[in-house]
Amino acid sequence: MRKIRKCLVLLGLCGCLCLGGKALPAEAAEIREIRSPQELLDMAGDPSGSYRLMADIDMTGVSWEPIAFSGSFDGNGYAILNLEIASVGQGVEDTYDGNRKVYDTSFAGFFDTLKGASVTGLDLINLRIDVDTQQPCFIGGIAGYMEDSVIEDSSVQGILQLRACDRMFGVGGVIGYGCGSIRNTAADVTLVCIDTDASTRDEQFMGGVCAAGYPDVNGCSVKIDGYDSDHGYVHDGGLVGMYIFYPQDVGYYGSITDNSVTGRITFFEDNTNRRAYCDGFIGEIMNWNFENGRNASDFQRDERFEYDVDLLPHSCERTAEGAAAIVWEETVTAPGCDSFGYTTRKCSVDGYTETDDYTLKSHDLTWETVREATYEEPGLERGTCKNCDYSEERELAKLEPTPTPTPEAESVPAEDSETPGPGAEAAETEEGKLPAVPLTALVIGIACVVTGVILSSRKRHSK
Ligand SMILES: [Zn+2]
Ligand SMILES: [Zn+2]
Repeated sequence: MRKIRKCLVLLGLCGCLCLGGKALPAEAAEIREIRSPQELLDMAGDPSGSYRLMADIDMTGVSWEPIAFSGSFDGNGYAILNLEIASVGQGVEDTYDGNRKVYDTSFAGFFDTLKGASVTGLDLINLRIDVDTQQPCFIGGIAGYMEDSVIEDSSVQGILQLRACDRMFGVGGVIGYGCGSIRNTAADVTLVCIDTDASTRDEQFMGGVCAAGYPDVNGCSVKIDGYDSDHGYVHDGGLVGMYIFYPQDVGYYGSITDNSVTGRITFFEDNTNRRAYCDGFIGEIMNWNFENGRNASDFQRDERFEYDVDLLPHSCERTAEGAAAIVWEETVTAPGCDSFGYTTRKCSVDGYTETDDYTLKSHDLTWETVREATYEEPGLERGTCKNCDYSEERELAKLEPTPTPTPEAESVPAEDSETPGPGAEAAETEEGKLPAVPLTALVIGIACVVTGVILSSRKRHSK
């Protein structure tokens, strides 16, 4: 069965490729709904399946291995919060530098690689990627690598950091490396790329949408704060670090339109043979065949010339003495009906501010009983939000008769208020049916009876 489906997917892919269009995954029979971190993790078991988020998901404390994905993922307008990624995925793909030299490269992102995949309506909020590697590597918010795939109506907000040293590596806000179509997607990202070996000249890439490759980028908006420390050659762009068609220059006609970029890339290029590509849209252009229009940029190229201290968003962290002096002031913003909560941290030394620890949206509910529980039927209560017109209902458990009746305790008044459950007397006298009395009266009544039982039995047994 699975084999048949794979064949169909392959046929579908071939069909799309032959028609010259962007391949989309074949129409899947079953869309699996995701409501929990575990259900999200379960995607790894069938990475060519179809999935749809049905709730916002908080990934705090969940370890995430990037998935090589070839299915369809519909974020459905929901968000994944606080996803942390610390290692590359299993996938290895070819990447090409400006001389079209090829490298076996690893990747990290929410997805490791996307091939023949579609991702729509996915919001990654407070994404934290922090990868340290010895191999050629690209990281990106939604995927490290993309090919014949579509990403649309999505967003990435977070801090993406890569430390690497092996010849070819980079960081992109939406994808690391590749091709395909990225549409109507937003990146509000802090990107950090650090060359950890000053002795070799590496090819290093950074882009608000994509670090290197030839994706079509249309209708995207980027807010970028980039830090690129390179002992080699930088290729930095507000949208794309290096736009290059590969494996050979055969004149692919790309499309970079209707995008907006705001922000800055702070970088150094420690190299005698300097090029220092850094631009608001595309750092280095290797392939001039693309439609290029209606793009707007408010971008600052911020070049530095001190090569011995890595560039980091929080300047205190650049030196050991600075790091030791950091004192955080924390402010917690509570979630609302339609907004996530989060914690703001401000460094009291230099004023650097970041947000972290997002919390799920939440209504402030007042509960009232709609129907009392009886011995036969569960009750119902309704919670109504104090701040919006949201309400939800939940069941009240059926009353449970207690098996041991205590005959003497009839009418002793209560003197202090314990909070008991339904008493044995009620079970005995009501014969499974409660009268329609208000809940508070019922609770007080039961409290009186049970307290009476306790008091009278204490009287009997003391002395
Ligand atoms: Zn500081
Ligand atoms: Zn509400």
